[in-house]
Amino acid sequence: MIYIKTDAEVELLRASNMLVSKTLAEVAGHIRAGVTTLQLDSIAETFIRDNGALPGFKGYAGFPNTLCTSVNDEVVHGIPSAYTLKDGDIISVDCGVILDGYYGDSAFTFTVGEVKPEVIRLLVYTRASLEAGVKEAVACNRVGDISHAVQSKAESGGYSVVRTLVGHGIGKHLHEGPEVPNFGRRGTGVRMEKNLVICIEPMINFGTKHTHVNSDGWTVRTGDGKPSAHFEYAVAVREGKADLLTTFEFIDEVLKIR
Ligand code: MG
Ligand code: MG
Repeated sequence: MIYIKTDAEVELLRASNMLVSKTLAEVAGHIRAGVTTLQLDSIAETFIRDNGALPGFKGYAGFPNTLCTSVNDEVVHGIPSAYTLKDGDIISVDCGVILDGYYGDSAFTFTVGEVKPEVIRLLVYTRASLEAGVKEAVACNRVGDISHAVQSKAESGGYSVVRTLVGHGIGKHLHEGPEVPNFGRRGTGVRMEKNLVICIEPMINFGTKHTHVNSDGWTVRTGDGKPSAHFEYAVAVREGKADLLTTFEFIDEVLKIR
């Protein structure tokens, strides 16, 4: 179902997504070689609860944790574990909250220590593909305009777009309509209107676009074992320019200091 929000609901979604932005920055301050993904999960859960909210993913469709932590060739939905981050890893941290009944959802891919330049380039292109998609999230455009912009940017870097997972509407439910694919044709799909709130979340692979799911039933991996990156913003559709409900500025601030 597609639910167009009232202005008041957009403000509630701004608050929940602001908390996610701050939670990811909190996690960012702890990402280093030697830390386990379960430790990051615990830091996030404590931060979210201390701020009067609930973890949005914990228990969602049976997911066991607060964060999805997806390392290297893991695309998304990695389950926090005793895995210890090591120098040269990349880790996508995807975080959801429920604040006053409304969901927030955002993801950022971090580097651990010294990461190969070609993998850094994948991250740069993935984040740029998200920005390209956001530019198209304006009233009267169609969802396919976002999809096409994301795909074009990612493929211009020589990368491939995951087909099996897509972005989504967000509100009182974590996943609402419409689906927001990271691939597609301009001028196709749902026509967007003011106060539609969507998550745009490119999942971009270094090699093949094909993926498979681990035996844990959750973790999505690349088909060829090459790395994958993931960035996600929640945005409210507006006339002329999208209204970003997520910000990476807190993360960027933390990463500058370290
Ligand atoms: Mg999402
Ligand atoms: Mg997410």
